[in-house]
Amino acid sequence: MTAALALDVRDLSIVFDTRRGSMTAVQEVSFTLARGEVLGLVGESGAGKSLTGNALIGLLQAPGRIAGGEVHLDGQRIDALPPEAQRRLRGKRIGAIFQDPLTSLDPLMTVGAQLVETIRTHLPLSAPAARARAMDLLAEVGIADPAGRYGQYPHQFSGGMRQRIVIALAIAAEPDVIVADEPTTALDVSVQAQILSLLRRLARDHGTAIVLVTHDMGVIAEIADRVAVMYAGRIVEIGPVTEVLHAARHPYTAGLMGLIPSLSRRADRLPQIAGSMPRPGQWPVGCSFHPRCPSAGPRCAADVPRPLSADDGMVACHLFSGGTLSPPAP
Ligand code: SF4
Repeated sequence: MTAALALDVRDLSIVFDTRRGSMTAVQEVSFTLARGEVLGLVGESGAGKSLTGNALIGLLQAPGRIAGGEVHLDGQRIDALPPEAQRRLRGKRIGAIFQDPLTSLDPLMTVGAQLVETIRTHLPLSAPAARARAMDLLAEVGIADPAGRYGQYPHQFSGGMRQRIVIALAIAAEPDVIVADEPTTALDVSVQAQILSLLRRLARDHGTAIVLVTHDMGVIAEIADRVAVMYAGRIVEIGPVTEVLHAARHPYTAGLMGLIPSLSRRADRLPQIAGSMPRPGQWPVGCSFHPRCPSAGPRCAADVPRPLSADDGMVACHLFSGGTLSPPAP
């Protein structure tokens, strides 16, 4: 039921209009999020996961544009609204957290002033009420002595504390959905765990749905309820995180599982699967993964595998299109 979902993305496609023509970068991406759910969107660099996140926040940079599909927020289709209505609605109901907190913070404004500005843009609160809410938000995200830190500038905080402030800004308007793009990648491992645990708690306590964009399966394992694996602009597998981690169906997901970076043993890159991700505009015919796939058969170089429902999720691979689900070759 659409109305029960915080976010429902259907067949989202993103293209870049270049002098040489239109280049598809994200193709027919579909997923849903329930309230309070954390969905990890994972894949190697160039898979299209950040573009998908940016399209949801309304930060797709030209010449990129949404070329097809629908985005429904709490049952309301938002992608067809006029641009100004989209901008207002996204600012209030979809929060954003990026890798570098400094991109979201104004170095010349105190953190308190930034919070009050954001709160009053989206909520009908008086200045004193907004100030009180800002203080509550700072406390909620774990800033000790909120009254004392309220008047300080971003440079007076550590990287982890700045990211906490960005999270406070993201939840200031009580959004339905937060898109968090590599929110812990720039942080120390110990701080990373604290920020992930904070996000998990916010999703649970506020019912906020979180789309967590990351290249790091360790991060997914830490807080996601479900995971969507992207390859060459498409989602190739979706499922509950425990099932995908322990019994990946798609050969690409299985390859990613060869090494899961953990918070204690961090890897900065995904494990090496032979070959590299093709660039948009250079996707192979058929299954885009076939040149790298240890299980590829003749059909894989000819036909794009269609998404098939599989238990609680979806998988797009010819190994499963005959109706029998068999594990990918090791
Ligand atoms: Fe491998 Fe073929 Fe499945 Fe693609 S469709 S992942 S090439 S087996």
